[in-house]
Amino acid sequence: MGDGLRIELARVYGFCPGVRRAVRMVEEHLAREGPLATLGAIVHNAHVVEALEKKGARVARTVSEAREPTVAITAHGAGQEVYSEIEKRGLKLVDTTCPIVKRAQEAARRLAEEGYTVLIYGEEAHPEVRGLLSWTKGKGYATLSPQELPELSAKKLAVISQTTKDREAFWGFVQEVISRFHPSLEDLRVVDTTCPETGRRYQAALELAAHVQAIFVVGSRNSANTRKLAETCRKTGVSTYFIESAEEINSDWLSGLSRVGVTAGASTPDEVIDQVIQRLSQIGGDAA
Ligand code: SF4
Repeated sequence: MGDGLRIELARVYGFCPGVRRAVRMVEEHLAREGPLATLGAIVHNAHVVEALEKKGARVARTVSEAREPTVAITAHGAGQEVYSEIEKRGLKLVDTTCPIVKRAQEAARRLAEEGYTVLIYGEEAHPEVRGLLSWTKGKGYATLSPQELPELSAKKLAVISQTTKDREAFWGFVQEVISRFHPSLEDLRVVDTTCPETGRRYQAALELAAHVQAIFVVGSRNSANTRKLAETCRKTGVSTYFIESAEEINSDWLSGLSRVGVTAGASTPDEVIDQVIQRLSQIGGDAA
């Protein structure tokens, strides 16, 4: 390793502003008013969920499962029926819905009210998409391919996106929608509800991959965006290690290397990234 190991960080990595805000809101509530139930994991990261659980934030799958007096909606947002249920049960609400997701929900609601059939580019089973569908009040469909959609009699179509989808892919989807429904379509509205944060992480990871010999992608294996980040790096041909924590790093991986990069998914907390950097510097230093 000669002069030691040089560790470079991606220009943008780790928690996005929406997730950072959600964790802060839950922590503030815990410190001020005590335990609450979060409707699903506040972040797709086991470290964060465990740390919050120790402080009194229990994960509940549904509002009816909540035993605490307060429930928190995650950054992915929730459907309108969840808000009604919380109100009906007289529970207090900490709404951490990311403002960018909120904007997509508003678009879904408004377009449906204006008589559009709303097509959502996204995975139907994803919590954010389930929420968006609910805001269309039964006038929406979620899919990744317009070919899978049923024959729609609606002449007014609107297209929005799951926020974490790639912007270019979204516009590709819009083109496919046009070819599928043209010429019966009379009115098409497109609202680009993609979030720039995810794209910024991929871009920064690619810039980093271009001049390092190996890249470490830090994050939970159940985080879709971290998996995609690792995939993006792998495709460049650079050695890519997808790790959940510093302990997974094998010192043999660094043998003969002088320059490595580190990036992390939007749900990876700062502490875990810091531990990875520390471990890499320690191995790099030991071998220098
Ligand atoms: S990825 Fe974007 S939309 Fe999703 S929580 Fe983060 S900032 Fe909000």
